[in-house]
Amino acid sequence: MAINDMDDWATQWQLREQIIKQCLWMNESGLNQGTSGNISVRHKDSMLITPSGVPYGQLQPQDIVQMSLEHNRYEWEGHYAPSSEWHFHRAILQSNPLYSAVVHTHSTYATVLSMARLNIPACHYMIAAFGGNTVQCAPYATFGTEELSVNILEAMHERCACLLANHGMVVAGKTLDKAMWAAVELETLSKQYYLGRSLDTLEILSDEEIETVVAKFANYGPKDKGSSEN
Ligand code: 13P
Ligand code: ZN
Repeated sequence: MAINDMDDWATQWQLREQIIKQCLWMNESGLNQGTSGNISVRHKDSMLITPSGVPYGQLQPQDIVQMSLEHNRYEWEGHYAPSSEWHFHRAILQSNPLYSAVVHTHSTYATVLSMARLNIPACHYMIAAFGGNTVQCAPYATFGTEELSVNILEAMHERCACLLANHGMVVAGKTLDKAMWAAVELETLSKQYYLGRSLDTLEILSDEEIETVVAKFANYGPKDKGSSEN
């Protein structure tokens, strides 16, 4: 094996291990259950994605499937077939070079809202973490279809997340850790909105305020002493 290939394989191996770690975490934390949900990560001009229907506890790095991002054919490398949701994982990664990871879950509250086919409004400032003043619910299409992928891409226009009608949620992030963080935040927001809907009044934040928060999020995170306030 050439040195470049060895480096490539070492990087890939780490990404494969990270995918498995996050699959196990999302089930242990209660965010997801069983073999529902799936994860993909960009690696150069390809995507590494969980195999379809394999219990996460059994996954080994060599079980993660590789698919090219350079074409749209159903071709893969690995001994298992890719997640049935490879269409939307690949389409999301192809749609925005800033995204390096996609997480799909059937987390309870996001799924409950999706069963009512509700868009989430700006009921909490954290909506801005997904890029704007709503999180849209993509119209229903059968799982694993290209139609579902098209619906998701439309619902994710200028957003890094959406709900999937009668199904669950999907989020994209610059790293796998960030995508998983966003998945937890979307589930939390879904729970808050679900509970808030039972109140007589629910105040919705203005578009201007959400624009302000979106701008603040661009500079949000741990800072040292010399950093300016935002
Ligand atoms: P896979 O096991 O094929 O990834 O499917 C799980 C799922 O969530 C389908 O929407
Ligand atoms: Zn699913």
